[in-house]
Amino acid sequence: MNYSHSILPQTDSLFKLLNRLESVRQTGPNKWVARCPAHPDRSPSLSIRLNGDRILVYCFAGCPANRIVEAVGMTVSDLFLDSPKKAKKKERATLKTLAAQILEKALVKELENELLEEIKLIERLLWRYNGWRVIMDDGKHADDLPG
Ligand SMILES: [Zn+2]
Repeated sequence: MNYSHSILPQTDSLFKLLNRLESVRQTGPNKWVARCPAHPDRSPSLSIRLNGDRILVYCFAGCPANRIVEAVGMTVSDLFLDSPKKAKKKERATLKTLAAQILEKALVKELENELLEEIKLIERLLWRYNGWRVIMDDGKHADDLPG
């Protein structure tokens, strides 16, 4: 099962959990069943449900929730999603980082443009210098070099 990554940080661990389980099947809005990773499970006996800001896992064979999440390399705290407030805070931090990266790129671009302008200027000067060299070769007017 490959669930696309959510842009909402608070549902990240839900997708992580679903991606790590086997025989995942959605049975309704915010409801899934899967094979329980904590016991040898032939038919999907694990129920996963998103309830507000927490993920509820329930094994019909009686496996405790911590054993289930640990079996897929997660912890019980992963079942508690970030509150909208905390999620927003995280999102803001991500956006800040993103903005800083964009700004840095823009600055680099601007510097590159400035550099390009300088190169163009140097090219113009070189072109003129070649013109001047003819005069310099003449041995006169050397003091008239642009600078
Ligand atoms: Zn189980």
